[in-house]
Amino acid sequence: MDRMKRAAVIGAGFGGLALAIRLQAAGIATTVIEARDRPGGMVRGSARQGFSFDDGPATLTDPQAIHALWALSGHDLARDVELLPVTPFSRLMWPDGTRFDLSDDDPAMIREIGALRPEDAGGYRRFLGYAAAVSRDVRDGLGPHAFDDRAGLARAAALLARHQAWRPLHALASRFVRDEHLREALSIQALQAGGNPMTASALYAWLHKLERDGGVWFPRGGMQALALAMARLFERLGGTLMLGDAAVEIETRGDCATGVRTASGWQADFDAVASNADVVASYARLLGHTHRGRKAADRLARRRFAPSAFVVHFGIEGIWPGIPHHSILFGPRYAGLFRDIYEHGVLSADALIHLYHPSVTDPGLALEGMSSFTALVPVPHLGKLPIDWDGEGEAYATRILDHVESRLIHGLRDRLVTRAHVTPADLGRDVSAHLGSAWSLEPRLSQSGWLRVHHRDDAIPNLYFVGAGTHPGAGIPAVIASAQATAQLMLEESHP
Ligand SMILES: Cc1cc2nc3c(=O)[nH]c(=O)nc-3n(C[C@H](O)[C@H](O)[C@H](O)COP(=O)(O)OP(=O)(O)OC[C@H]3O[C@@H](n4cnc5c(N)ncnc54)[C@H](O)[C@@H]3O)c2cc1C
Repeated sequence: MDRMKRAAVIGAGFGGLALAIRLQAAGIATTVIEARDRPGGMVRGSARQGFSFDDGPATLTDPQAIHALWALSGHDLARDVELLPVTPFSRLMWPDGTRFDLSDDDPAMIREIGALRPEDAGGYRRFLGYAAAVSRDVRDGLGPHAFDDRAGLARAAALLARHQAWRPLHALASRFVRDEHLREALSIQALQAGGNPMTASALYAWLHKLERDGGVWFPRGGMQALALAMARLFERLGGTLMLGDAAVEIETRGDCATGVRTASGWQADFDAVASNADVVASYARLLGHTHRGRKAADRLARRRFAPSAFVVHFGIEGIWPGIPHHSILFGPRYAGLFRDIYEHGVLSADALIHLYHPSVTDPGLALEGMSSFTALVPVPHLGKLPIDWDGEGEAYATRILDHVESRLIHGLRDRLVTRAHVTPADLGRDVSAHLGSAWSLEPRLSQSGWLRVHHRDDAIPNLYFVGAGTHPGAGIPAVIASAQATAQLMLEESHP
């Protein structure tokens, strides 16, 4: 291939933006083509009656990876976005009244464990040792690297064997600690990447270590403020950002991607094209005119996708300093609830609720004297539970508000100023997520590493992928790492 001078990135999710910043910083003239009128993808926000909400993730881990994007061009993230610390990282609450605060304050963590089962303190230290070893290997060996050769596969196999990666995370935690609450506290992180804690690999213990090492943060103005700052950084470097115009075709000639055409009729030629759009949609819609696209889409559609998420935003009167930024309200069941979500496609009467309270960290997100909250509930994706969410959403949102009122915010309904909800169907429509999945391909060993969508297409060598459907997977830290892997491959082509 001739030296790469012009590249297109389809989609301005965090993965697409991070890739575009890396390419542009390396001197490749890069155009980002985004269907929506705002960057950020699943990291999207909404505003209602003076309250601001995040519709997707509402905290940030691994801020170093974001700092690194600014540092590529000698810029400083702190000049563009203020990251506010979130403490505790999360408060876990069970129906039996048990509470547990996760944080990086070691003595406090040991005190919390002591209140559950003092004998588990030693086991927790050993769990942390395991998580630290995985974390080192993931960072140095696997995370931000593409699987494009046998050496990559050999590295992965050695790592999987060393850390007994076939063990599920909850089973691993159970080897170290005996208290069931603690086992849940140490395995729930798998869900951040879309994994079922009962079946996802023990390697996801590294997410606990990632939080302990790098902290948990919230950008002032919400996660959407960070997405906007990434887009501005890309433009400042000279990149071109096109919003509100969906790509409809990746043009090809033979086994080469030649350009991109959009819904408005705009067309341009590129030396390389990278898609950050959902992987099924990329192959089925953007490459549907090719044999390669149709075949890959069919194969992908038969694989297992992670669940979706139902989100309820509410603004209420009063301020609630006693409710931290992030609480997790566990239901009476753990394994059974995840079986309902991942296997049976059931909307259970009980639920696991991530309750975000962003205005306790950034009061500017609510009207004075008021508070903004978001309840996020993992639910089966549209393939497992094909219900009419447009019809059912309101009633389900009310059920979730009732749960929160009975468990934590008494008198919530009387204080309600505004409420809104976002359903799996909205997620499918808004960002073209296959089956409304919030995390793309489910993270299981059989769908990880080389077995996810490759960063470089197998048949079209100047076509690349970045984001949740690729290695290392879904979640903000992972898609930022995937951008590093994809950029590395593209830049090797550009400077052979
Ligand atoms: C409710 C919810 C909660 C979550 N919670 C967490 C969490 O706590 N922690 C965590 O780490 N992760 C969480 N995630 C997952 C995380 O948000 C995603 O894994 C990550 O944002 C995906 O980024 P991405 O770059 O792969 O792509 P996406 O964010 O999916 O962006 C893809 C972009 O491509 C655009 N696009 C699609 N088709 C086209 C087209 N034809 N032309 C142009 N543009 C197109 C879309 O509009 C979108 O902007 C959550 C997700 C959701 C939905």
